[in-house]
Amino acid sequence: MRRKRLGTTTLPAHPTTEERFWAKVDKQGPIPAHRPELGPCWPWTGAVPKRSGYGRFNTGVKRAGHWVVVNAHRYSWKLHNGPVPDGLCVLHRCDNKPCVRPDHLFVGTKGDNNRDMVAKGRHWRQAGRQGSVGADGQSPVRPMATPADGRR
Ligand SMILES: [Zn+2]
Repeated sequence: MRRKRLGTTTLPAHPTTEERFWAKVDKQGPIPAHRPELGPCWPWTGAVPKRSGYGRFNTGVKRAGHWVVVNAHRYSWKLHNGPVPDGLCVLHRCDNKPCVRPDHLFVGTKGDNNRDMVAKGRHWRQAGRQGSVGADGQSPVRPMATPADGRR
């Protein structure tokens, strides 16, 4: 018997760009506290530079001798919706920058983003160097984390 294997392989030697992308996504992330109806976030597990807070994805494409590296959430949006319209940003409903879950993302202008940040109080959290609460006399009530009760 003769089996023709032309062009078919059981295991792709080179995963597609998209496969490489999803391999770095954790689909069981936290549920956003302020928007629980959105369901769990899908945080990027690859590189996330502190400065931007957004996941970075190396597309594997080289242009002018440099790897083309994109923001992971933008890439995710593009996968599902096509190119991001000129001048628009991809924003997060869940306010979780590393999240790449398509239905947590929407497009808007930079202005929307800033307004959104102000509305959510992100601007001062970023600006505050100490990051400590309670200077104004409000001591946050922190429920003690209950230790996962025992498997003995
Ligand atoms: Zn999210």
